[in-house]
Amino acid sequence: MEMFKFTKVIGVPEAIQAGGRSSTAQQGAQVRFVAGGTTLLDLMKLDVERPTELVDINRLPLDKVEKLPDGRLKIGALVRNSDLAHDADVKTDYAVLSQALLSGASAQLRNMATTGGNLLQRTRCMYFRNDAMACNKRQPGSGCSALGGDNRMLAILGTSKDCIATNPSDMNVALAALEAVIHIQGVKGERDVPIHEFFLVPGNTPNREHVLEPGDLITYIALPAAKPKTKQVYLKLRDRASYEFALASAAIVAEVTDGRLTYVRVALGGVGTKPWRSVEAEKALLGKPANAKSFEHAAEAALQGAHPQSENGFKVELSKRCITHALKLATQSV
Ligand SMILES: Cc1cc2nc3c(=O)[nH]c(=O)nc-3n(C[C@H](O)[C@H](O)[C@H](O)COP(=O)(O)OP(=O)(O)OC[C@H]3O[C@@H](n4cnc5c(N)ncnc54)[C@H](O)[C@@H]3O)c2cc1C
Ligand code: SF4
Repeated sequence: MEMFKFTKVIGVPEAIQAGGRSSTAQQGAQVRFVAGGTTLLDLMKLDVERPTELVDINRLPLDKVEKLPDGRLKIGALVRNSDLAHDADVKTDYAVLSQALLSGASAQLRNMATTGGNLLQRTRCMYFRNDAMACNKRQPGSGCSALGGDNRMLAILGTSKDCIATNPSDMNVALAALEAVIHIQGVKGERDVPIHEFFLVPGNTPNREHVLEPGDLITYIALPAAKPKTKQVYLKLRDRASYEFALASAAIVAEVTDGRLTYVRVALGGVGTKPWRSVEAEKALLGKPANAKSFEHAAEAALQGAHPQSENGFKVELSKRCITHALKLATQSV
């Protein structure tokens, strides 16, 4: 771990100004915001992240969950994962988000981890976390040790010849199914970015993971107004029952009218290089009877573009079964 400057800020403009001192907000950033620190500090100890300045944003007034007059839910970037999971509106109207958060990490970690930090958590690819190994994400152009290496946990959707790392967040999968919008304040002003545009697939620049620029601070995430007729399910399949990242997961938001799917959103975790919204599965389901045949058809459609690696071919079938079972749970009457 290298020496770094530690700056505490109390205002958003001050934070943005400090973040703007970096030449990039991607891998290799010289200035990093620190929230719960549960991702960033680990990576600094491993020498994967080497910022020369940490900007502590924990005193910023971004720790509230609020219902907006138009019905949307505004989630401050510093709301802790445990507080968000247990928020009354989230438990009632956005159950898939509460379930996804509670399926992640441990109670202690969820007490520290924040909404903004969870959104930006880095891949768990073992080669990314080991600076003795070649990794295009950590060091562009150095190669990808996971291709033909230990890739059992890694992605099968959205991969490239340069990187097959999975986005590990459970929360992000639920946010994709809920069509969340990320609110960013930066040097050039404020902007809203829908979650499907926020994350980038690796292509030949796996070091670029999202659209943030130097100084960009996530201030809140907004969820569309609640859809009271929907049922929501997050199903996570993993090697052990807790404290483990997903091998495959599915977030479903579904409404059934007279036995047919009249609204459905499907997002997948553990299999994509970014939180993976499957519009293919949604198209296959909309208007169809809520039965096993439709679910299997949708799962086939979702995995059609899969590119398994040497050790993770099992994820194709696992993800299909995860989707069909989650759809069954989300459409059966209680
Ligand atoms: C042992 C272990 C097990 C875990 N298991 C799971 C799991 O099963 N599922 C799961 O989803 N996650 C899991 N996690 C990951 C955990 O959820 C994340 O570490 C946590 O959510 C990160 O939040 P944080 O506030 O601590 O982020 P930090 O470490 O503070 O920050 C992470 C990144 O986000 C940036 N950042 C933070 N806030 C902002 C902001 N407002 N604007 C711009 N940039 C910002 C930081 O600069 C940094 O680059 C696990 C972590 C550990 C250590
Ligand atoms: S999969 Fe991506 S993160 Fe992992 S070694 Fe290859 S380039 Fe690095």
